Amino acid sequence: MDFELTEEQKMLKTNVRDFLEKEIVPIVDEHDRRGPMTREEAVGFIKQLMPFGYYIGQLPEEYGGSSLDNKTYCILMEELGRAWASLAGVIMIAAIGPDILQMGPEELKKKLLPRAMAGELIGCGAITEPNAGSDAASIETTAVAEGNKWVINGTKTWISNGSIADVVMLLCVTDRSKGPLGISRILVEKESSPFSARELHKLGLRAFPTSELSFIDCRVPKENLLGDPSLGYKQMMVGFESARATLAAISTGIAQAAIDAAIKYAQERKQFGRPIGSFQMIQEMIVDMIAETEAMRLLTYRAFDLIDKGERCRWQSSLAKAYATEMAVNVASKAIQIHGAMGLSDDYPVERYFRDARTMTIPDGATQIQKLVVGREVIGIRAFV
Ligand SMILES: Cc1cc2nc3c(=O)[nH]c(=O)nc-3n(C[C@H](O)[C@H](O)[C@H](O)COP(=O)(O)OP(=O)(O)OC[C@H]3O[C@@H](n4cnc5c(N)ncnc54)[C@H](O)[C@@H]3O)c2cc1C
Repeated sequence: MDFELTEEQKMLKTNVRDFLEKEIVPIVDEHDRRGPMTREEAVGFIKQLMPFGYYIGQLPEEYGGSSLDNKTYCILMEELGRAWASLAGVIMIAAIGPDILQMGPEELKKKLLPRAMAGELIGCGAITEPNAGSDAASIETTAVAEGNKWVINGTKTWISNGSIADVVMLLCVTDRSKGPLGISRILVEKESSPFSARELHKLGLRAFPTSELSFIDCRVPKENLLGDPSLGYKQMMVGFESARATLAAISTGIAQAAIDAAIKYAQERKQFGRPIGSFQMIQEMIVDMIAETEAMRLLTYRAFDLIDKGERCRWQSSLAKAYATEMAVNVASKAIQIHGAMGLSDDYPVERYFRDARTMTIPDGATQIQKLVVGREVIGIRAFV
């Protein structure tokens, strides 16, 4: 693949970075301390960023998008991760338009896509449950057919955007006798099919809502079932490929932010009468951070390049996700070391980079699961069912 950015991509990267530095970076720390953003705040940020291609850029032009290729999308997500990883998470998950376009019945498309095009539709995807995390095929939430409705019962947990979502892409059991082939995806619209949400506090990505959702006899129209009812689990697995590559892109952005902060501090902070950047061990740390971040970026580009070519990137996206999220923790940790005690203070952003990076190693499959996906591919033996 060609790792060089096109002139257009370089220009977009510069323009987005300038905008984010001016409009977003100055408000991040104060916002992050307040905790999860509200729906109104999320919609406001989405509308601000849509002109650059965020949120619906990947949709075709007739739906308000610009048919953005995946590598360009990757550049956008890395830049947003560099500025504010929580917002990158919110926008990545909110953008449910492509799924509706791909799998939604005509009625749902007519109803929901105009709202997505206006930046007014916040989505989320609900898979994880209290008893089903890494083993997603063991979910217990059920959808039972009753007349022209599905009746949904169950609890989903750690759902990104859960408390601010207008629509939930819900993974649920529609036929337990069929095992994973009895798992389906149903779109739940909060307005007409209410459910309750409770916010969960976490170490990092503090402005990115993560919630527990309770569905008690929640009634959803039959036509909200997405795609083939027996392929919900498989479709979810395919969807993980681009989601994992996106988390790798955001983590690369966090690592880049940590490098930029460390270089600035090393140039400014003086000890023993010299800038600490003149000490060889500080330079070594910075060079190691750069090597790790370049490797993250290249693995991530490779995964997105395969998607652009219409190929699967099962293990490549898992490798990118495992490596990028774990290395971002290393890089952010070194940035703290270079800042000395100030690195632990929330007067500087590096402690946020560290907390945010650490949080990324869990969602969309923890590091161990990503490694098992790669191991299965290269060794040819499944370590788990
Ligand atoms: C910030 C954040 C956002 C999230 N967003 C969403 C969302 O939008 N939607 C959603 O559905 N879920 C979401 N999740 C949940 C996430 O997908 C799960 O937390 C994740 O899949 C791991 O499940 P678990 O937490 O139950 O851990 P468990 O599955 O209980 O795993 C615990 C530990 O055991 C390890 N482990 C498990 N099985 C194996 C094995 N076979 N071999 C080796 N090690 C193993 C894991 O790697 C982990 O270290 C989110 C989580 C976080 C932190």
